[in-house]
Amino acid sequence: MKPFEKKIYLSSPTMHGEELEYIKKAYDTNWMSTVGENINETERLICDKVGCKYAVALASGTSALHLAVKLAGVKPGDRVFCSDMTFAATLNPVVYEGGIPVFIDGEYETWNMDPLALEKAFEMFPEVKVVVFANLYGTPAKMDEIIAICNKYGATIIEDAAESLGATYKGVQTGTFGKYNAISFNGNKIITGSSGGMLLTDDLDAANKARKWSTQSRENAPWYQHEEVGYNYRMSNVIAGVVRGQIPHLEEHIAQKKAIYMRYKEGFKGLPVSMNPYDESIMEPNFWLSCLIIDDEAMCKQVRSDNEACYIKEKGKTCPTEILEKIAECNAEGRPIWKPMHMQPMYRMHDFVTKNGNGRANTNAYIAGGGIDINADIFARGLCLPSDNKMTPEEQDIIIEVIRSCFE
Ligand SMILES: *Cc1c(COP(=O)(O)O)cnc(C)c1O
Repeated sequence: MKPFEKKIYLSSPTMHGEELEYIKKAYDTNWMSTVGENINETERLICDKVGCKYAVALASGTSALHLAVKLAGVKPGDRVFCSDMTFAATLNPVVYEGGIPVFIDGEYETWNMDPLALEKAFEMFPEVKVVVFANLYGTPAKMDEIIAICNKYGATIIEDAAESLGATYKGVQTGTFGKYNAISFNGNKIITGSSGGMLLTDDLDAANKARKWSTQSRENAPWYQHEEVGYNYRMSNVIAGVVRGQIPHLEEHIAQKKAIYMRYKEGFKGLPVSMNPYDESIMEPNFWLSCLIIDDEAMCKQVRSDNEACYIKEKGKTCPTEILEKIAECNAEGRPIWKPMHMQPMYRMHDFVTKNGNGRANTNAYIAGGGIDINADIFARGLCLPSDNKMTPEEQDIIIEVIRSCFE
């Protein structure tokens, strides 16, 4: 296989031209700070699109999650239930506030937080008052079930919709299911500002607090007057210009990503694999990343240490490590699934709850037929495929061929 001349990325920014006009407008009018029309318009457009009352434009999705954790009232020593298989940014803000993440195992139907494990966790720690969950790779979590359990125990929900902007659950946009919600405009997300994020909420008081905290918590006074700690978290009007130019293209990006997902799905017919799943009857993901998971019986031996992986090739079988190697050889970019937090050196000692009760991070080796928790299993057998919306169908067909050849 001759490698692609131009690298095919996992998911890279796709610009359209309007972004430059809005940046130039900021420049020409000298609104080159954290105040200006681009910020106001971007907030308004996102409220319109998502259907929330207030959007606060911030420096990143992580800063939005941090302010969400503060708004939810997490105090030092508080346990907080968090998605386990996700980007660390979902829950690092809990730690910024001195909270203690308790990790909740996932399920096989959407790869998100398992309501059964969440229920178990509340039985073990009924005092917990905050739950942070993510919609992985753009697929909504099991909202009805998660919300019902949180309501039963009186817990506040923070929804991390950083990866799922534009996805819907029963016709409702993600980013609205928590009391406080975060989206991200990081460079690899479905639309981007090069960086940036937003806190979304229907609570005016919360939105005002977030706005104040994000601009160093100045009180209303002629001088710099402070009554509480503040942050430099506000979005720049230049970044907001990029986001503003991208918003009209959100649906187009989603359609492209969906076409990529469907082409993979079709291309893998007959192979012992499946794509990252979702419930077609109630949800429409934004298809941010296409992922696949290899059937148990088709997995060759694979072992991962903290920083290396190796495998033993077997006829007719493969593993994510081999597929990722082969994809990289043709100058395309794949990635392992988010490594679960309960397997991370940093969080290894934290509580981890599966639907069967307290789980333990046992081993990084793949054991056929389970014996490990669901998230460790998805991490062992799954991978993210090149999902860039500038990839052509011809290029994608070559990637599909390369993957098929791993099963020979
Ligand atoms: C990207 C991402 C974030 C963080 O967003 P930034 O804008 O990069 O700070 C948080 N959670 C998840 C699940 C993400 O994918």
